[in-house]
Amino acid sequence: MIEKKNSISKFKNILSEKDCIGCFNCCYFSKEEIGVLPFLSKEESKKKVYSKVIEKRKNGFWQIKQSLSKKNNNVAKCFFLDERNHKCKIYKDRPFECAFWPFVISFEKNKIYVCSVNKDWCPKVTKKKIFNQKTINNILQYLESNNILKELEKKERYIWPMEDYYIKVIEITNKIKKYNEL
Ligand code: SF4
Ligand code: SF4
Repeated sequence: MIEKKNSISKFKNILSEKDCIGCFNCCYFSKEEIGVLPFLSKEESKKKVYSKVIEKRKNGFWQIKQSLSKKNNNVAKCFFLDERNHKCKIYKDRPFECAFWPFVISFEKNKIYVCSVNKDWCPKVTKKKIFNQKTINNILQYLESNNILKELEKKERYIWPMEDYYIKVIEITNKIKKYNEL
């Protein structure tokens, strides 16, 4: 879900609450999509709020557990989604990947990009909103001020493989100076 106000308020122009139509694509998953729940950085995985509801994957990163939707047996959801009011139970403590949505950090052929998911995944994504200098500046500033680039350098944060439903917004390979191999 989209931020109302706090640390990512700089994204307000593109991700304000009014932009979010509450489709919940970002917190619901098909049962088979267990691999697409939010990954946590090494630092995030130590937070008490996530303890007991995260699982370590083969790649060494921790991921939030999924649970079944009470409304639809065929659908899974993030453990933290409260279906009674459709709110994130840990909104203020939600991981970076959720706060950054609909943007995703992804790699392709040894290059690292900030991508946006396409409209099928977040209906409020429009190219006009994501491809402008202000958005790109805000993304870079946000990544730096939240230590995300450092975490990527130290390989303490998962990088998603490129998908055909990602739209490349900006390449950040050169911003991660010490990152030699993916
Ligand atoms: S996918 Fe996009 S529009 Fe839908 S609930 Fe999430 S942020 Fe809002
Ligand atoms: S942590 Fe919150 S915002 Fe993130 S997927 Fe779960 S319910 Fe949605």
